[in-house]
Amino acid sequence: MKKLKLVMIGNGMAGTRTLEELLKLSDELYDITVFGAEPHANYNRILLSPVLAGEQTFEEIVLNDLDWYSRNNITLLLNRNVVEIDRIKRRVIADDGTEAEYDRLLIATGSTPFILPIPGNTLQGVIGYRDIADTQTMINTAKTHQHAVVIGGGLLGLEAANGLMLRGMHVTVVHIGEWLLERQLDKTSGQLLQAALEARGLQFRLREQTLALHDAGNGRVGSIEFKNGDILPADLVVMAAGIRPRTELAEKSGLPCTRGILVNDTMQTYDPRIYAIGECASHRGIAYGLVAPLFEQAKVCANHLAQLGFATYKGSVTSTKLKVTGIDLFSAGDFMGGEGTETITLCDPISGVYKKLVIKDDVLVGACLYGDTADGGWYLQKIRENHGIGPIRDHLMFGAQSIVATVDEDDDLAPVPLQEAS
Ligand SMILES: Cc1cc2nc3c(=O)[nH]c(=O)nc-3n(C[C@H](O)[C@H](O)[C@H](O)COP(=O)(O)OP(=O)(O)OC[C@H]3O[C@@H](n4cnc5c(N)ncnc54)[C@H](O)[C@@H]3O)c2cc1C
Repeated sequence: MKKLKLVMIGNGMAGTRTLEELLKLSDELYDITVFGAEPHANYNRILLSPVLAGEQTFEEIVLNDLDWYSRNNITLLLNRNVVEIDRIKRRVIADDGTEAEYDRLLIATGSTPFILPIPGNTLQGVIGYRDIADTQTMINTAKTHQHAVVIGGGLLGLEAANGLMLRGMHVTVVHIGEWLLERQLDKTSGQLLQAALEARGLQFRLREQTLALHDAGNGRVGSIEFKNGDILPADLVVMAAGIRPRTELAEKSGLPCTRGILVNDTMQTYDPRIYAIGECASHRGIAYGLVAPLFEQAKVCANHLAQLGFATYKGSVTSTKLKVTGIDLFSAGDFMGGEGTETITLCDPISGVYKKLVIKDDVLVGACLYGDTADGGWYLQKIRENHGIGPIRDHLMFGAQSIVATVDEDDDLAPVPLQEAS
């Protein structure tokens, strides 16, 4: 049987996971060609933070080495940026003129860091934090320069700041919000986190807006100026103020995009031969920026590409962690609460433990944990199950183990299988 041609644009985490899932289902259906703009085989982008912090090496974070592609007969074209999708002729064209025809096309182009539109943003030493090249720039700069400023107090910004500090730089995090990680933590836990990071040596400027970056006199950034007129030295500025789905290629080829390439529940775009997956895709109005949902999408996309067609993607409940060694935090679902919700909180500032559970209509809808995150996975499971918590409500705050113990003592409680307590 003549094989179909599958072309993938973007050799990152979501796309390559889709290929892995597809090969498990069928390795006979497609001749596969992959275009990757980076010069590397697929690596675990999440682990760039431990690499920056000096806890892992680049070699250790490779997920699929070059051998994996050749073993699976995948043509891998690295260092090639696809610049055009010709939907009439069903082919893609890369910046070096390479062309590849497709029967099915998978767009997995990920995101780009949002670079603040301020004067000085193109100076040398002003970077985003997305790939191996950015990480290497930070590691090199830490050897030669002293002052780093990270713009953005979200997960990425704090991990960049922590890594640069461990590499010996004096680091200030500038954040427009009232507290750190305001999309993952409430105010109390955000403040506990800030205190812990300050104790390690990071500096913070909250509720601060950047006005401009100034040239040191040699084409390199030398300082940062805030709206209130303050100026700080800055030899390196890392912008971690959000990401933008990479949709320009899809848009140019006429595929509808709204903050991501629009896809249906089988990850197909408006052109049924073309799929989009990962951070570049917008599913039911959401472009996810975390790996777990992208891997769920990958399974569904592979199922459809393999012509099985029974899997659908309905969206994901996400949870987050911060990868700063020694600091434990976890949040999932609607952890802020609000009208129509009840919250149960436990706060022990002495031991640095804070827990908040949000309940709506007897269902656990959100959790925010700081200092003790052992039950994070269990709470996430409860949020996903979307069941009434009635009989276990009074024990919920004390975690999975307390419920198992209580069930042993109390016949009135519905038994909870032990595997739920993982
Ligand atoms: C430092 C860091 C830490 C992170 N930590 C976490 C974490 O702890 N937990 C978590 O869940 N998520 C984390 N993330 C986010 C996670 O890495 C992303 O959600 C995930 O990598 C997205 O996968 P993707 O395949 O959509 O995009 P990517 O992995 O970015 O892959 C897209 C690839 O496409 C390439 N590309 C783009 N355009 C073209 C083109 N035109 N032609 C050819 N190639 C192209 C890009 O160069 C890139 O290699 C982190 C991200 C970073 C940067």
